[in-house]
Amino acid sequence: PMASSEKDAALAATPSDGPTIFDKIIRKEIPAKVVYEDDKVLAFRDVSPQAPKHIVIIPKLKDGLTGISKAEERHTEILGYMLYVTKLIAKQEGLNDGFRIVINDGPKGCQSVFHLHIHLLGGRQMNWPPG
Ligand code: C5P
Repeated sequence: PMASSEKDAALAATPSDGPTIFDKIIRKEIPAKVVYEDDKVLAFRDVSPQAPKHIVIIPKLKDGLTGISKAEERHTEILGYMLYVTKLIAKQEGLNDGFRIVINDGPKGCQSVFHLHIHLLGGRQMNWPPG
């Protein structure tokens, strides 16, 4: 389950279209364990892993995508590409028996960083329903 401090942070977070910590990761201003990078997306290990494998996949160009709830038709190409890259990373990480993809949105979805991101979780048995 999500640590209560993370949930509190998500509930306290103010959605904004301004820069986030992920911009600093993209610009290599703060370190991240990058597992995949190309001209359109960056993927790195989550600093607070919720599974043995926990990777965050982000678009390098936010283009207003603070979260999935802000998606517009112009974003469909990058959204599809992010899902494809997520599959490539799952394979690269050896998650051959399954994995989970999560997109948190808004306070009730426990979103804390307002730059769209896909969570890839694996390496353990997942449960349903999620918390
Ligand atoms: O979906 P949510 O907005 O809660 O996810 C943000 C994620 O970004 C968290 O899982 C957090 O651990 C991760 N994070 C990170 N590196 C940072 C800041 C946040 O991996 N420097």
